[in-house]
Amino acid sequence: METLAANLRWSWHPATRAIFAEVDPDVWEAVHHDPTQLLGEVTNERLAQLAADTDFCTRLRAVADDLDQYLREPQWYQYLPEEPERTLPQSIAYFSAEYGLTAALPQYSGGLGILAGDHLKSASDLGVPIIGVGLLYRHGYFSQSLSPEGWQLEHYPEIDPRGLPMTLLAETNGDPVGIVLDLPEGRQFIAHVWVVSVGRVPLLLLDACQERNEPELRSVTDRLYGGGTEHRLRQELLLGVGGVRALRSYCALTGHPEPEVFHMNEGHAGFLGLERVREYVDVEGLTFDQALELTRAGTVFTTHTPVPAGIDRFPRDLVEHHFTGTGAAASLPADRVMALGTETYEDGDPAVFNMAVMGMRLSQSVNGVSTLHGQVSREMFHGLWPDFDPIEVPITAVTNGVHARTWVAEEAQELADRMIDDVTELADIEGWRKITGASDRELWEMRRLLRERLIADARKRLRRSWKQRGATEAELGWIDDVLDPDILTVGFARRVPSYKRLTLMLRDRERLKSLLLHPERPIQIVIAGKAHPADEGGKRLIQEVVRFADDPEVRHRIVFLPDYDMALARAMVQGSDVWLNNPLRPLEACGTSGMKVALNGGLNLSVRDGWWDEWFDGSNGWAIPTADGVAEPDRRDSLEAAALYELIEEQVTGQFYDRDKAGLPKRWLEMVKHTLVSLGPKVLASRMVRDYVNELYRPAAVSARLLTRDGLAADRDFAAWKQRVRRAWPGVRIEHVEVVDMEEPPQAGGEITVRTTLVLGDLTPEDVRVEAVLGRVDEEESILSPTFSELSPVRGKTSQGPLTRYQGSIPLARAGRCGYTVRVVPKHPLLTNPAEMGLAVVPGPPPGMGDGMVLR
Ligand SMILES: *Cc1c(COP(=O)(O)O)cnc(C)c1O
Repeated sequence: METLAANLRWSWHPATRAIFAEVDPDVWEAVHHDPTQLLGEVTNERLAQLAADTDFCTRLRAVADDLDQYLREPQWYQYLPEEPERTLPQSIAYFSAEYGLTAALPQYSGGLGILAGDHLKSASDLGVPIIGVGLLYRHGYFSQSLSPEGWQLEHYPEIDPRGLPMTLLAETNGDPVGIVLDLPEGRQFIAHVWVVSVGRVPLLLLDACQERNEPELRSVTDRLYGGGTEHRLRQELLLGVGGVRALRSYCALTGHPEPEVFHMNEGHAGFLGLERVREYVDVEGLTFDQALELTRAGTVFTTHTPVPAGIDRFPRDLVEHHFTGTGAAASLPADRVMALGTETYEDGDPAVFNMAVMGMRLSQSVNGVSTLHGQVSREMFHGLWPDFDPIEVPITAVTNGVHARTWVAEEAQELADRMIDDVTELADIEGWRKITGASDRELWEMRRLLRERLIADARKRLRRSWKQRGATEAELGWIDDVLDPDILTVGFARRVPSYKRLTLMLRDRERLKSLLLHPERPIQIVIAGKAHPADEGGKRLIQEVVRFADDPEVRHRIVFLPDYDMALARAMVQGSDVWLNNPLRPLEACGTSGMKVALNGGLNLSVRDGWWDEWFDGSNGWAIPTADGVAEPDRRDSLEAAALYELIEEQVTGQFYDRDKAGLPKRWLEMVKHTLVSLGPKVLASRMVRDYVNELYRPAAVSARLLTRDGLAADRDFAAWKQRVRRAWPGVRIEHVEVVDMEEPPQAGGEITVRTTLVLGDLTPEDVRVEAVLGRVDEEESILSPTFSELSPVRGKTSQGPLTRYQGSIPLARAGRCGYTVRVVPKHPLLTNPAEMGLAVVPGPPPGMGDGMVLR
């Protein structure tokens, strides 16, 4: 049982949890389903009793064998063909400041951490060789309760690592491994490394709370996202720099293969790139530029937010201080380090060091977390690639997903397991169609059961909260009748930054009341969410909701449940019929809670932002119309709130309460089934992890291996080439562009010939790619969705002094008005993208058109 408790797979394996529940059902409830705690509390007597129970032992053995098999058997990754052009990395490191794995390990604040947890679990299921790296916060994020006035109160209970499912990484002599981090002025501190087993994925958590450290430094890993600027910087240095060192120790001690690919989950982890640069400089004797190329090649950076306040920025002098003297990477030139985090774009702040910007400069691949967020990020970070159109900015997107076995109710999983032969069927629509073959009655009964369970849980939590707020039992009789298992239940739970608009539903209180108290078609709302402890505005929003929900007129139909965590999230995403999401578009990068709801047979009612913009298809839920163009925030909120009320009144409640003779809401259930079929295969984290492997990890491993060829000769050449190109680039000029042999007017299926004359200065034709840029033009004569066609040097006529001529024939895809121009970009087989170096030359201003002509 200790073996089972020590691997977090129990958190997504119902049969293992069932075994623990059997050990002692009361204790199991009392310890909130935490196996490690359970084993600490159960008596020897009870254990002896169980040991004598052959039935129990048989089931225990079966579950243990199942874990054993799960850890050893080849999975999806092991069956991928190893192709020369598509290397399979032997190991991938994943760095994140937070991980949401189970409520029993409270090391997360919200979506970013939950995503990281789901990423590791799915990687484990798929056999992807990932190692996670993070910090162990002694007080986690915080737990939330309410004051009598409805104000958020924060508590920081201390966790005891020895009571958690993890072990200390130890040297061969048994001493704990100590990771040392140097600070300026000759100080240093050490961190121990805890290893958590997430299925087959090891997760290393660094813990600075050590007796040997000065008291001030002991607290570096006290709280997630707490403390002042310097505190945060130390945390991120420990995560990035210390994290790489922890990885090295882990691999050396366990024989685990060294990672070829490093994934930064948001800018907090950015310093990992600097530590790798430092390693190459100090150990391999490379120059900074050579080390930078090698690091970039194998690094993937994921950006998670378009909200400027969500991006990590430090005062420059503070960062500089930490990278000089005896700082963490004393051997690196401070000016080069500082340049990596400089906001070089137009409205950039010269006084800050931007962690996201550094992450992007240290990574060859950068991605956002939904298609829309990819587009928003390309515009947001366009300033780092000013010579390219936003569409060419090298930021791609992999849409987030959720780990089904973590979020889907056991009843729903059982129903699914009955309808399909094995889980691999869930990778495509056909498997999901089979699941929806269950009868309407069965589906509806399951939904009612989940709603009922949420309500029972909500009443318990509400009672606890009211007692904390000072109420006596005698005053709380009404709580027994709060919420109704037959009423349409709307869920709303998330962190409370202002863009998520927790209080949008309160915009017109009378209208909301009439929805809650409707005589035939009422709704009820369950709300949860934490505001960051420093966010007074967020706390005011929570208070507004709590005060509204305290009103005896509506308190049986709307509740705020404190302390949103994974356990409450599970209950809410399973029991809600409708999941409400109304962020200020396009500020929600992806959002994942609605995906969890969809997998449980709930429906989404959401602004078309993040993932919902991509996968809402008109009939798998509802899209709240947005007033995107309205600049005045107050008016925009009013318009969007009105649209929300109207949707609920006219569509949502109508369909939910429209029952057939058997009492079933036929049209509603059709929507549920359509949701499962249309979203099921897409919203899975297994789909997401497969996308990361194929689109990002494999190419990164290929790039990294190409550079290490011939004892790093390729890397040295590439770095030298880049330096030469950068230096010579100001000498590149386009002198002339013309079109010859053109039919008038241009015909689709015809072609045009583009010629240009260039000055390449110190570069050769091998160093550049000369392209004709062709496309439709708008009224301002900018080229829209252009195509780029490479032109060839014209041999023989090139010896006119410094001039080089290029020419090419380009097929015309469409007739009518179009524009053309020419541009020059660097060219090298190891460049993965024309925009990689941020260098492009076009024929004089304006960059879009230059002296290209508009053809009619
Ligand atoms: C899923 C989840 C989130 C993320 O939800 P969003 O939709 O991205 O806001 C945050 N917190 C918890 C506890 C979750 O389970």
